[in-house]
Amino acid sequence: MEVCRLPVRRDNYIFVLYDACLGQAAVVDPADAPPVRAQLSQWQAELTDILITHHHGDHVGGIDELKQAFPRARVYGGAGDRGRIPHQEVFLEDGDRLTVLGEAAEVLFVPGHTAAHVAYWFAHTHDLFCGDTLFAGGCGRLFEGTPAQMLHSLGRLRALPPDTRVWCAHEYTLSNLTFALTVEPENERLRERYAQVQEYRAQGIPTIPTTIAEERATNPFCRWEQPSLREATGYQEPVEVFAKLRGMKDLF
Ligand SMILES: [Zn+2]
Repeated sequence: MEVCRLPVRRDNYIFVLYDACLGQAAVVDPADAPPVRAQLSQWQAELTDILITHHHGDHVGGIDELKQAFPRARVYGGAGDRGRIPHQEVFLEDGDRLTVLGEAAEVLFVPGHTAAHVAYWFAHTHDLFCGDTLFAGGCGRLFEGTPAQMLHSLGRLRALPPDTRVWCAHEYTLSNLTFALTVEPENERLRERYAQVQEYRAQGIPTIPTTIAEERATNPFCRWEQPSLREATGYQEPVEVFAKLRGMKDLF
């Protein structure tokens, strides 16, 4: 299974999964249909599955047109998103298993950014599609969830194998790391990462996918036990440290 990354809109990524032997493809969070259709026709691939992490417009905007072009493509989303994802026909619960292009994927219920947000974990290939929950260097805003929910969700994601490729849905890395440096200025690995990401972005190179190992080392929203972050926030309890960091980032 090959993962193709399509940058769209201001900072969204659409991910197209492709199996050349099958001549089939799946898409994660199609904000828009035309770039997906262009990629599929280049491969001459049939679209079989549309995986949605949550209902926001910049994740579901292309479903309608893709369903018109590929009426048999199945649309998956969280059970709690019923009525919010166009054409949704599979209503997923935590722990559900699906097969995409012959690969097994597990559904992780990760509320916080929205109430029904799910992530797709491909255990064989170590690929995680996590929408707007975990970002490179940051995490999603809490639109419908509590800090405790998001902390729990991020706790599950950061417990995945260190070499997991994290395919998050936005290119926010540089601004996330700019914030991260304000709360952990002494983190050497963070400083190195910031310098590298600055260079990448200056050349227009995407910083996605990241890895769980990288996030555990440099993303403050995966590091709530660190003494440096307790000090920066003035709190000790993980949920308080996390909530304070999220609040600081919202105002940053
Ligand atoms: Zn969103």
